Amino acid sequence: MTPTSHQIPPTSDDAQDASDDYDDVVSVADDDPDRAAASKSDCSEGDTDSVRENDHEQNLTRALQAAEDGSRHKTEFLTNMSHELRTPLNGILGMSELILDTELSPVQSEYLGLIQTSAHDLLAIINDVLDFSRIEAGRFRLVPARFDIREQLKTSIRALAVRAQQKGLEFVYRITPGVPGTVIADARRLVQALSNLVGNAIKFTEQGEIVVEVAVASQTDSTVTLNFQVRDTGIGIAPEAAETIFDAFRQVDGSTTRKFGGTGLGLAITNQLVEMMGGRIWLESRHGKGSLFQFTAEFGRTADERQDRTALPAILKGLEVLVVDDSLMSRKVLEEMLCRNGMKPTLVADGTIALQMLEKAHKAGSPWPLVLVDDRMPRVHGFIIAETIKERPELASGLIMMITPGDRRTAQQRLRELHEASRLIPDSIKYREAGDPHRRRTSLERCQHLELSCVLKPASEEELIRVICEVAEESVQAARPVGEANLNRAPRKSEALKVLLAEDNRINQTCAVHLLHKKGYEVAVANNGREVLALLASEFFDVILMDVQMPELDGYGATIEIRSSTDSVISNLPIIALTAHNNAGDRERCLAAGMDGYVAKPIQPGDLFAEIDRILNKTEKSDLVEPVDLLSGDAIADGDDELPVLDREEVLRRVEGNIELLRILVGTFESSRIEYVRHIRAAVDAGDTETLETAAHGLKGAVATLGGARARDAAFRLETMGRNGQLERDAANAVGALEGELGRLQTELRDLVAEGTD
Ligand code: ADP
Repeated sequence: MTPTSHQIPPTSDDAQDASDDYDDVVSVADDDPDRAAASKSDCSEGDTDSVRENDHEQNLTRALQAAEDGSRHKTEFLTNMSHELRTPLNGILGMSELILDTELSPVQSEYLGLIQTSAHDLLAIINDVLDFSRIEAGRFRLVPARFDIREQLKTSIRALAVRAQQKGLEFVYRITPGVPGTVIADARRLVQALSNLVGNAIKFTEQGEIVVEVAVASQTDSTVTLNFQVRDTGIGIAPEAAETIFDAFRQVDGSTTRKFGGTGLGLAITNQLVEMMGGRIWLESRHGKGSLFQFTAEFGRTADERQDRTALPAILKGLEVLVVDDSLMSRKVLEEMLCRNGMKPTLVADGTIALQMLEKAHKAGSPWPLVLVDDRMPRVHGFIIAETIKERPELASGLIMMITPGDRRTAQQRLRELHEASRLIPDSIKYREAGDPHRRRTSLERCQHLELSCVLKPASEEELIRVICEVAEESVQAARPVGEANLNRAPRKSEALKVLLAEDNRINQTCAVHLLHKKGYEVAVANNGREVLALLASEFFDVILMDVQMPELDGYGATIEIRSSTDSVISNLPIIALTAHNNAGDRERCLAAGMDGYVAKPIQPGDLFAEIDRILNKTEKSDLVEPVDLLSGDAIADGDDELPVLDREEVLRRVEGNIELLRILVGTFESSRIEYVRHIRAAVDAGDTETLETAAHGLKGAVATLGGARARDAAFRLETMGRNGQLERDAANAVGALEGELGRLQTELRDLVAEGTD
């Protein structure tokens, strides 16, 4: 902003000097008999010039006195008038308030509401006139007292914030560190000055934000001077108007008065108040862009001045917080508050990105301990994020909504937002959101409905920290301590089922995790049997899905270890085998190792959930359709030219029609297939049949999930060679054939993804 110079009015010291001069004149005329007598004797000597001069002086004094009396009478009249006007006006306000409490038709309520608004406006004008006339008459006195400035500002600013929020404006306020707690000043007048500026900022701003900041300007042992800033993104003020804007009855132009109303007294009073508080006021503004009003004021310091911080609660130290807020200024203020209290904030402006970050962190096994979400954001509404986290608590341990109390957006705006959001959010949530019977609830009610912790915006630091501490403590209590957790296992009726997926193949992992998430289950992934055992030592699970063939420690070995655990909760955990082997021997082996059930790979969603249900609810196996193992030797027609490169139906069924998931799987396949082939080729070259079996088996599982029938066939040939412990003569050719099939599969998969995206 370009600063516009403002004529700083005379300071209170200047005003005091002027009145001292005036007192001198009066004392010469009325109170000094010696000098008066001397004048008379001069006159008797016939010095006519001197007589005339003296007369002139006396006339001047009388005129001044008369003017002074006139002005005082006028001020007294105004003061009395204002006072007399206020009494009936308060009657109107009080009575209309009472009528509003009775039963009225909508039209009557509306008319009465208008009467109230007009009466309030009139009262504000009268108060301004009264204040102004008192100041003019020198009868305006400040009443200093001790008060908690942070508390005081919080209360007054919140009331103003609601007005701004009702207009759809973002409202941010911050008190910078160092501002003391208790000070001595006239709290009422400080609030009046600040409210005048904030009131104007709201009045002259149609969109954007209003920011109020309080900081220490300077201090001595006994005083502290604070700087108050009120910034808006409104209509701004032209430089020529800024010159006189602090004069009484000045408005920028007539059209402003017509459009916005007002008397032009607010800034003049503020100016005087600020002066009386030992400060000054000035303005920077850019026409059409916004204004920044600033003033300083001096406060007495108290001996027991409360520090603005006590010791940091230990629970906050290093706490990672994801802040989702579209307002830059708001993010800045929150970042500062959180850092100052020992936390580590990450700031995001967009709800879609936040959802992605939550998902990513969860997948990486380190979900966000705390998420702070703004309720009102343009693309993905805060409540969508909140509901997603509520649905899937594994995404974040703690959640706080920052709610806008004065939010009165129209139903249409809300629908527009939902429409925008609907392109970015899962169908299940979209449906519920659009059909939410509680859509007309206020944000606060929605928080209560969802049992969410919330802070009202603009949040004071104390309040925000208090709520964060509460939520963080709740999360810590909810988290089960290692070891003790399993022993104290209690039925978790309302919580999501927690599944441990042991699977080394990334494509199968991704696919299974998606299916389980979609079902609302919490999932942790282990890449081998060792990782399974490590996870069980620290976390509780309801069921394990165990791939039997994994590196380091396979599923059989891991199951034997689990069943022989001395911890009864661990040893009794239900285990479902994920097996690619569909012959009776393998099943028996799974059961013999202590597993409770099995599902054939590639996983068919229906089979998987039926088996989980059977194992957990102890239903009969006979309810199940016997799974067909598409990877078994029986199902694969060796060298069958009729097989498709890509079984489109099969793969789409596997991913439940989710092209986005398919795209991810294809990406994983593209990056891993070369590695697989390298391993297979090296094993063939070295005659290492064991490695060949493992690598070919892994690749077979991956391409089977992707519906690559011919590639699966080619991998199976090599796996069989490995299992038989004997390489056939054309083993090298078989590797070449596999490579060719993988290439073709990749091309077809890419086409399928591209078609699905169109
Ligand atoms: P009023 O009662 O008319 O608002 P003020 O003394 O408070 O009286 O303000 C004087 C004039 O200054 C206003 O009428 C308006 O033209 C201008 N003004 C004050 N604050 C702002 C602002 N934040 N943005 C734009 N114009 C402002």
